Amino acid sequence: MIDTHAHIYLEQFSQDLDEVVAYSRSVGVSHILMPNVDHSTIDEMMEVEEKYRGYCTAMMGLHPCSVKKDFEKTLYLVEEWLDKRPFVAVGEIGTDLYWDKSNFKYQQEAFSIQVKWANQKGIPVVIHCRDSIDETLDLLEPLVEANSSGVFHCFTGNKEQAERIISLGFKMGIGGVVTFKNASLDQTLKEISPEHLVLETDSPYLAPVPYRGKRNQPGYLVEILDKLAQVYDMGKEEVENITTRNSHDLFQIS
Ligand SMILES: [Zn+2]
Repeated sequence: MIDTHAHIYLEQFSQDLDEVVAYSRSVGVSHILMPNVDHSTIDEMMEVEEKYRGYCTAMMGLHPCSVKKDFEKTLYLVEEWLDKRPFVAVGEIGTDLYWDKSNFKYQQEAFSIQVKWANQKGIPVVIHCRDSIDETLDLLEPLVEANSSGVFHCFTGNKEQAERIISLGFKMGIGGVVTFKNASLDQTLKEISPEHLVLETDSPYLAPVPYRGKRNQPGYLVEILDKLAQVYDMGKEEVENITTRNSHDLFQIS
């Protein structure tokens, strides 16, 4: 299994990251991908990548919740990093209409700029779109080129939105929400082939049942895999193989 989205460089892990990584390896997580948040998280993320080289891999991008009026300053830093060394993806980027709608126009601008950088570099984008899937698809569609790829992280949309994502050749990241009783995501997923999915935890957020409300960690990916195997009435190994292959193809990791 590959955890395609985990912020394990945040302070929630500062006391026990060795144990968290050891646990994750012990349950069969073979790789952890780390999306960046903003200027304040880059150093810690790079340190974690260095410490667990080949197991934890960094992305570079500016998260929509950190996009304010003065976003160009931070975006410049992101651009510098992207030019300095290779990254597995531009992320996480996107829009968020849940927390603060007043910065939406800056979020749109920062998103479009970062999608273009990913296109230029031929790497995927990792997209956050809380309460804004349609708005983000509207922004993304005209920017998609032949070599564009990416994932809608923490997908919680409907079948029509999934079809728009699939028609762009993009994937959907499935995490703890699929295990929540009040979420209808499992019903939607029954109509979407697992060929379009990758696994993620979004650690330390959105822990799956039976850990809901606690700190999430990459090792809990097991619960998400279990739930998907139930949803698709498939063996766990089969779902694991499909989603791992999807992650390899998307992020070009070996
Ligand atoms: Zn995230």
